[in-house]
Amino acid sequence: MNSNINIQEAIKEAKRCLNCAHPLCRTGCPIENDIPGFIKAVAQGNIGQASAIIAERSNLPAVCGRVCPHELQCEAHCVLSKKNCGIRIGMLERFVADFVETMNICEPVKISSRHGKVAVIGSGPAGLTVAGDLAKLGFEVTVFEAQPEPGGVLLFGIPGFRLSKDVVNREIAKIKRLGVNFRTNVLVGPDITIDQMFAEGFDAIFIGTGTALPKVLNIPGCTLPGVLTATYFLSTVTLFQSGHLEAKEIPVTTDDRVLVIGAGNVAIDAARTALRLGAQSVTVAYRRTVKEITALPSEYEAAVQEGIQFRWLVSPLRYVGEIKVSGLAVELLEADVAGDIHPTGKQEIIPADKILLAIGQRPAARIVSTTEGISVDSYGYVITKERPYGMTTRPGVFAGGDVVHGPKTVVLAMKEAKKVAAGIAMYVEAKKLLEACN
Ligand SMILES: Cc1cc2nc3c(=O)[nH]c(=O)nc-3n(C[C@H](O)[C@H](O)[C@H](O)COP(=O)(O)OP(=O)(O)OC[C@H]3O[C@@H](n4cnc5c(N)ncnc54)[C@H](O)[C@@H]3O)c2cc1C
Ligand code: SF4
Repeated sequence: MNSNINIQEAIKEAKRCLNCAHPLCRTGCPIENDIPGFIKAVAQGNIGQASAIIAERSNLPAVCGRVCPHELQCEAHCVLSKKNCGIRIGMLERFVADFVETMNICEPVKISSRHGKVAVIGSGPAGLTVAGDLAKLGFEVTVFEAQPEPGGVLLFGIPGFRLSKDVVNREIAKIKRLGVNFRTNVLVGPDITIDQMFAEGFDAIFIGTGTALPKVLNIPGCTLPGVLTATYFLSTVTLFQSGHLEAKEIPVTTDDRVLVIGAGNVAIDAARTALRLGAQSVTVAYRRTVKEITALPSEYEAAVQEGIQFRWLVSPLRYVGEIKVSGLAVELLEADVAGDIHPTGKQEIIPADKILLAIGQRPAARIVSTTEGISVDSYGYVITKERPYGMTTRPGVFAGGDVVHGPKTVVLAMKEAKKVAAGIAMYVEAKKLLEACN
């Protein structure tokens, strides 16, 4: 749970910052954290002040300090990076978040509610950001979450060895201390509809339900036992670790040769988790080359070091097996000098006892199918407006995060959610004004 640097090391690192007049690090941060401001406070040894500066823009610093792609964002933009000695901003953010928690400082203040009632559906980074921002503005917020615990992908997707469940739980505890209520084990749509929520007196409703449906490969053999989705596998591991499932429900065992299809963050997380469960071997198969993978470079390098095998330029043809899966038949591809990929006509069978699919996700339709007036595009993503920011085609219903823009990153879901929270505040204020005039 704790940072891997101490306060002396944090101050030493912070003192290297040039406190640039035009800080490029800040433009590289999707939520425009005041990076030079918080680093200056760290350099002065004022960690409470540093935490307060980060809290102006982020409700999830301990999470962002661990899973944000800093090396592609703020750290890539830092002027010192050009000289190969960029400030390790992610490490400092993580240090500050952990330090204030350990020292129990910077307790957020609960603001007495006065502006109106907002329901937030989903407790991933988007839902938590909307809930935290609106609670700070004085709204009464209730979060509805389908899972037994809040956290979304932070808890049920990203494995604990990258983002500890304690860290997620303590960020949620902070949001609870702002006065936000959580109702878990509630699947909005079947259990309660949007119309019933309005009837309960909510002034506005935010949909932050992410992309719950994993994409599948409809090739021959797709119904064979042993063919699974990577997100299902990862969620069973978390549910087991938090006592909601028995070990036998985890679909990967120590004898398994595991094959993961895909090469994004989900694929690498599933592969590294399978290895930690003691799988006999773990191979990642991808139809392109290492240059095109969407996983973070640091995650890929960690996977290679841990002994995960990679098969590039293979295209799945069919799952092999009779009673259960025993392999994947693939066509071998080749890349020409321009990087274009062509079939070779050659085939191979990669042996596997479990095949985990990590080829993308899309939104479920549980809410839009039970609610009139919420338009989605042809892939099921919710369509939203610019003004008030994030409102759907149904007045008073807003949406943000992966359910709107597709699977991206934690910080991009937060960035959009911050703008939607401002849109909701504007909408509820106008609604209350009109009600007062009638
Ligand atoms: C395995 C994995 C690893 C990842 N690694 C990284 C990483 O290292 N860094 C990074 O920046 N990003 C990473 N991502 C992406 C990132 O986690 C997502 O982009 C982000 O979580 C999206 O946030 P969200 O709030 O929109 O949705 P989610 O986090 O998906 O949260 C949606 C929530 O809504 C709930 N929900 C859905 N439907 C309903 C309903 N009808 N009623 C009630 N609740 C409902 C779900 O249970 C869930 O809790 C990863 C994603 C995965 C799957
Ligand atoms: S760009 Fe680098 S050196 Fe300049 S303020 Fe940001 S972190 Fe400090």
